[in-house]
Amino acid sequence: MALDSKIPAGPISDKWTDYKDHINLVNPANKRNIDIIVVGTGLAGGSAAATLAELGYNVKAFCFQDSPRRAHSIAAQGGINAAKNYQGDGDSTFRLFYDTVKGGDYRAREANVHRLAEVSANIIDQCVAQGVPLAREYGGLLDNRSFGGTLVSRTFYAAGQTGQQLLLGAYSAMNRQIGRGKIKMHNRHEMLDLVIVNGKARGIIARNLVTGEIERHSAHAVVIASGGYGNVFFLSTNAMGSNATAAWKIHKKGAFFANPCYTQIHPTCIPVSGDHQSKLTLMSESLRNDGRIWVPKSLEDAKAIREGKKKASDLKEEERDYYLERRYPSFGNLVPRDVASRAAKERCDAGYGVNKTGEAVYLDFAAAIVRYGKEQALIQHLDGNDDVLVKKLGKEVIKNKYGNLFQMYYKIVDENPYETPMMIYPAVHYTMGGTWVDYNLMTTIPGCFSIGESNFSDHGANRLGASALMQGLADGYFVLPYTIGDYLAPDIKTGAISTELPEFVAAEKNVRDQLNKFINNNGTHSVDHFHKKLGKIMWDKVGMARNAKGLNEAIEEIAVLREEFYRDVKVPGSIDSFNQELEKAMRVADFLELGELFAKDALHRNESCGGHFREEYQTDEGEALRDDENFAYVAAWEYKGKPSEAILHKEALVFDNVKLVQRSYK
Ligand SMILES: Cc1cc2nc3c(=O)[nH]c(=O)nc-3n(C[C@H](O)[C@H](O)[C@H](O)COP(=O)(O)OP(=O)(O)OC[C@H]3O[C@@H](n4cnc5c(N)ncnc54)[C@H](O)[C@@H]3O)c2cc1C
Repeated sequence: MALDSKIPAGPISDKWTDYKDHINLVNPANKRNIDIIVVGTGLAGGSAAATLAELGYNVKAFCFQDSPRRAHSIAAQGGINAAKNYQGDGDSTFRLFYDTVKGGDYRAREANVHRLAEVSANIIDQCVAQGVPLAREYGGLLDNRSFGGTLVSRTFYAAGQTGQQLLLGAYSAMNRQIGRGKIKMHNRHEMLDLVIVNGKARGIIARNLVTGEIERHSAHAVVIASGGYGNVFFLSTNAMGSNATAAWKIHKKGAFFANPCYTQIHPTCIPVSGDHQSKLTLMSESLRNDGRIWVPKSLEDAKAIREGKKKASDLKEEERDYYLERRYPSFGNLVPRDVASRAAKERCDAGYGVNKTGEAVYLDFAAAIVRYGKEQALIQHLDGNDDVLVKKLGKEVIKNKYGNLFQMYYKIVDENPYETPMMIYPAVHYTMGGTWVDYNLMTTIPGCFSIGESNFSDHGANRLGASALMQGLADGYFVLPYTIGDYLAPDIKTGAISTELPEFVAAEKNVRDQLNKFINNNGTHSVDHFHKKLGKIMWDKVGMARNAKGLNEAIEEIAVLREEFYRDVKVPGSIDSFNQELEKAMRVADFLELGELFAKDALHRNESCGGHFREEYQTDEGEALRDDENFAYVAAWEYKGKPSEAILHKEALVFDNVKLVQRSYK
């Protein structure tokens, strides 16, 4: 099957407008005759469900939590980008487009990224109109801060709870439609298969997680908004429940899976403290606006700190290595995440790590506290030479900006970050890969769309901070509602789709068989036992740095582990009741296949780009070395029975509007 990305012709800045002017529309009266299933009600699915219902479609929405408000999107801390140029610092649609393409190390599709930059400003207007309390300056104007990989301030935020506030906005919009009967909400339901009738996506099989009942649901189109697959690593900053099942099930039914190896390892997370952990915690990138990252300059000091003989505050300015500021003077602490993560690993591997495990660097706010304190003293006509007063004033400013993040750190680590630098280390955070979609956000299965983190769309090989919320809401509020109409226009006379069709019966049987297999397995090890083992293989051999030897080993080890899992996993309880071990077993089964494809993708990509770092391909300075001649393409994998037999399709990437050069943040 040839990949057709359906990118409209014409200049990049006109494509989306021209496209919208010429696509098929469904008239308002006919929308009432069309049903759409939306799987996932995080920011992408929630905004899509609300907008599609507002337009008049009948929406059936699904999530596995007890409320859409508990989607993983709620965890987003730092902010959302938009090219509004409120700071007058030279921002524009083109700059946001350019930064995103460059930030993704030139592995994203230009046309999609430009559209994203175009609609970014509408998102802020939409959310403000909904009442989302985005941060404002004293005078009442919306405030901005900076995120990595940019030289402007374009990130809108709501303290350290941006995702939560945006999700409440989308949820309110959904609730209005639930009240009107236009959205039928199915909480605590998990989609376990896609139903295809005559080549088109026409429904899903879902399990009611409370009663265990298996249900059939039909529609004229299915939208997958199920989030990312970072939990394939077991330990990540994702919510514990985040999983790949919906995306993987559609992959097995014909949706190509693109760039699975593009994973973001976020530089500022609370370091792993031991084997007991099941979750890692992010410290938002926004902290890098004011926090300075450093390690000791000398190995002796690093050792003394690790052994508890010295503290960070014992080291004078000249004894500290602010390695990001040293290596990347123009972007400093705000280099993109892939660059910052690798730099932290490099310092720790060289022996400069500052916690007991040797895998931590400092994120220090002392300088910012003094800077803000002096400014406040000036504003308030107080004594700027009074050190105690200056620190007090400075801490108040920091508290207003990042208070909840500081509190979170204190609760987890039991150290006061206002007094002593935070310790941070990279952790798995976001997956740029996902289901392949064309310009319409449709997968390779007609009528099956994929939006938000579950698709591969806009971030190339590395996502810039504050761009995931932008993409999820762009997809849900402003892109899918148009493009899906073009697909549905011929369906206005189809009528309701029966769930008695043989395709529904077969899909339901398939799901029941899988569930029964686990319950009747009588193995000896828990699901987590296998998930942890998978995570260790992934982190050690497919993590921040990869090489051909390790990847080959990982592929073999994952295949062996998968066999062991099916032979020896123990899932207690029954199918027809609340059973969290059974839920997990279904999800880990999919991770065990996805993990292998992930490693296979990383092995075939003989270059380094963004978050995909192959040790064999690096510059003399240890930066990612791309091979544009051979790898400027999207790798879209077709399922053929098992991951080892997946077939590679290539979507060539064309760069007409940004110059293809090796990335530099110096
Ligand atoms: C700690 C943290 C902080 C972050 N901070 C930021 C930030 O500041 N700025 C930014 O831009 N990005 C940030 N991100 C990334 C961003 O939060 C996510 O990429 C984004 O929220 C994903 O939204 P989504 O709607 O695609 O998926 P999710 O929010 O993950 O929602 C997935 C939905 O799908 C449902 N679902 C999944 N599978 C099934 C199934 N099989 N059946 C039924 N329902 C299913 C879930 O119930 C849920 O409703 C952060 C991420 C983390 C982990």
